[in-house]
Amino acid sequence: VLKRGWRDEVWGRLEEPWDLIVVGGGITGAGILAEAARMGLRALLAEARDFGSGTSSRSTKLVHGGLRYLRQANFRLVTESLRERDLLVREGSGLVTPLGLYLTSFEKDRTSPWVFGLALFLYDVLARKWDHEKIPTAQLLRDLPELEGSGVRLAYRYYDAQTDDARLVLRVIGEGVRHGASALNYARAEGLLRERSGRVAGVVLRDLETGRTAEVRAKVVVNATGAWADELRAQVGGARRLRQIRGSHLVFPASRLPLHGAITLFHPIDHRAVFAIPWEGVTLVGTTDVDHKADLAAEPSMSAEEADYLMALARHAFPSLDLSLGDVRSTYAGVRAVVGTGVANPSKESREHALWKEEGLLTVTGGKLTTFRVMARETLHAVRKEFPGRRLAARGPILDSIDGTAASLSRLDPATQARVLGRYGPAAVEAAQVGDFTEPIGDSNARWGELVWAARAEGVVHLEDLLLRRVRLGLLAEGGGQNLLPRIRTLVQAELGWDDARWQAEERAYRQTWQMRYGTSFTAN
Ligand SMILES: Cc1cc2nc3c(=O)[nH]c(=O)nc-3n(C[C@H](O)[C@H](O)[C@H](O)COP(=O)(O)OP(=O)(O)OC[C@H]3O[C@@H](n4cnc5c(N)ncnc54)[C@H](O)[C@@H]3O)c2cc1C
Repeated sequence: VLKRGWRDEVWGRLEEPWDLIVVGGGITGAGILAEAARMGLRALLAEARDFGSGTSSRSTKLVHGGLRYLRQANFRLVTESLRERDLLVREGSGLVTPLGLYLTSFEKDRTSPWVFGLALFLYDVLARKWDHEKIPTAQLLRDLPELEGSGVRLAYRYYDAQTDDARLVLRVIGEGVRHGASALNYARAEGLLRERSGRVAGVVLRDLETGRTAEVRAKVVVNATGAWADELRAQVGGARRLRQIRGSHLVFPASRLPLHGAITLFHPIDHRAVFAIPWEGVTLVGTTDVDHKADLAAEPSMSAEEADYLMALARHAFPSLDLSLGDVRSTYAGVRAVVGTGVANPSKESREHALWKEEGLLTVTGGKLTTFRVMARETLHAVRKEFPGRRLAARGPILDSIDGTAASLSRLDPATQARVLGRYGPAAVEAAQVGDFTEPIGDSNARWGELVWAARAEGVVHLEDLLLRRVRLGLLAEGGGQNLLPRIRTLVQAELGWDDARWQAEERAYRQTWQMRYGTSFTAN
């Protein structure tokens, strides 16, 4: 959908008037773009870096109701998230997949196990299904022998879902574009255009690749810049309202931490709810919750303290595996935007989203990956008066239907078919023709053909876009896939139209970014 030359093509028509500009290309902006396009609006999304490169590629990757929000008695958020979860599993089959979780109770836990049973009872009531069971210790250790020696008492098995967050963003943006919207990456909104009355009337965009700028006018400007949202708000005099909270994950190869089910447990140090989750052939252990004091302009990364905290968790839950930092395959960190209320403990801040209208600038931030459609619809509802005659469609599907597409992919095994359909949606058949979709890349679930399709049609501007977000080798492969670069080069260099000097520069930049942000060279705090 975003084939070579697409950025120039969009830049060429930026000065035409738009109905709606969405600033920010994470899941929030993507959802708004897709819903606006379905309403028939002329909509443009501008992302300062790569699509999904903010928080939306750095989550725990759960599509979930959020069991822990029950603790805050936030039933509305949980009910809404559960409904969206179930719809996403149905419509995003192959990209959003059901996940069995064990809510585990350990000898030293403060919370007694009956509370777990009660919480899951409530969770199922809110989801209107009965989907959990108590697992005695003996069976638990058969299911998850990695817990041997940990003092685990029992568990409840329940179900949520998981996804590839960056791919979800891309699928949703792709649907917006297919419905007539436009999207640009590496296009930063540097300023706001104002009418005489002071009302926001557009944005000044800068192309971070070429340096060109454009004044882009629209009836409505939406600020979907997540943790950065206060920056644009400051331009209309909005006082700071967001608290930036970092959450990080350790990624272990399945060969060192093989899990046949996800685990939810309380951290032995501060009793926060944390996870160990099998994902795409690796195991994610996270997350932390710490105030992010670093400059937001720099890519976030894990601190040494967070690494220690997560290693303490891994050793507590899996003592028999003797895990050490040397076993860690990669790390990643993301920054949540939460509306700051001043409470001391970051974990106590609400995860609900917020919608503010200031001088015509509509800011939507906070919330969850899972509830992107709810946020999109609320945003568009708030500006409906600007678009008389355009109606927000009745609550329809979140993702476009791919019914009937599977038949054309019958040469692929069922798991690969599902993967390709989920990732590429309506473009699946075209995508599956470009390369090899049978051989996995190393010990990951990714296929070599995915790299080729991404390079050809998924808006890759830099090598890191390809390796960190289109195909997640930066998280999944040893050393972020640096040893695979010669083979990757033969597959994608021509597709990307890069000469040798450009390839070498991109390779250097990727190696450096990976080392500093995704490896195990941690920051001080
Ligand atoms: C550690 C962690 C774990 C999480 N786990 C889960 C989970 O398991 N499930 C779940 O549902 N949710 C989860 N979340 C929450 C979820 O990830 C976020 O709510 C969601 O990704 C936020 O999306 P967003 O689009 O609002 O922000 P972002 O994804 O950060 O997107 C904002 C974008 O705006 C861009 N931008 C900033 N300034 C400008 C500008 N001037 N011009 C143009 N673009 C700009 C940025 O580059 C960025 O890409 C988690 C969050 C964290 C931090």
